[in-house]
Amino acid sequence: MRTVGTFGEAREGRSGVVGLVPTMGYLHEGHLALIEAARKGSDTVVVSLFVNPLQFDEASDLARYPRDLDRDAALAESAGADILFAPDVAEMYPIEPVTRVRLEALTSTMEGAHRPGHFDGVATVVAKLFAGLRPDRAWFGRKDAQQLVVISRMAADLSFPVEVVGHPTLREADGLALSSRNVFLTSHEREVALSLSQGLFAAADAVADGERDGAALQRIVADRVIGAGAGLDYAELASATDVSPQERLEVPGFLAVAARVGATRLIDNVWLDPDGTADRGMRLERKSALYG
Ligand code: AMP
Repeated sequence: MRTVGTFGEAREGRSGVVGLVPTMGYLHEGHLALIEAARKGSDTVVVSLFVNPLQFDEASDLARYPRDLDRDAALAESAGADILFAPDVAEMYPIEPVTRVRLEALTSTMEGAHRPGHFDGVATVVAKLFAGLRPDRAWFGRKDAQQLVVISRMAADLSFPVEVVGHPTLREADGLALSSRNVFLTSHEREVALSLSQGLFAAADAVADGERDGAALQRIVADRVIGAGAGLDYAELASATDVSPQERLEVPGFLAVAARVGATRLIDNVWLDPDGTADRGMRLERKSALYG
């Protein structure tokens, strides 16, 4: 694996189908599953690592975002990456950008409502990665459900010749969705954080038992999260195609939750189908390598 800092270097020495896995680093098994999927689904695997200032709505969140390039390089290589593209801010934004990618829909609810400007930053940086790295395929996690829909639509609207592929959420053995931000949780906060996945799984169980009412599903999640002592931002049932709020589960969708646990904001979701089935993600058998 080569670690490079410029778009030009990241385009050298590639062959066949080029697969891209964009990340903000501090890799965990969720990222590694994406890299392994890219290894199977392409000939050259490029992993990008960039903590994108444009998508952070809170300066404190950006400042404390965990970073460790040496650790990430070893993990990316072990998962099958050929090229690790780790640009600095000057490579990504050599001059103050006056061009932004802004979606006129899909971004006014959930994460878009709670994190002003977030999706403009995400769409802009992913468009730059698509333009600068020219992948044929790119893998994104279903954990960031709204982001996956936003990026798929952005790529289609702007005619990027990139196939956007979604990957199920990786979870700890007890159900907690893997997130780079989990390293901030104290052991008590980690218990509280479990309420997100527990609420979502309880809602998915209710769907399997016939529940289709959106408000009822949202209440199952909200009650569990608030009851555990987390600060709920939202629990929302949305369409999987256009993220519009759903009163009933009548089209494929996802039930998403965002909550603050101490100083850490976490998100999670389950993808639900009107036939009663759900994608709850995949569980690790042992503790994540995130904790050393
Ligand atoms: P991030 O580094 O948080 O920006 O995430 C980079 C990519 O990894 C995004 O496509 C995320 O959706 C994906 N990702 C993050 N956490 C998980 C997870 N637990 N399972 C699967 N994919 C994930």
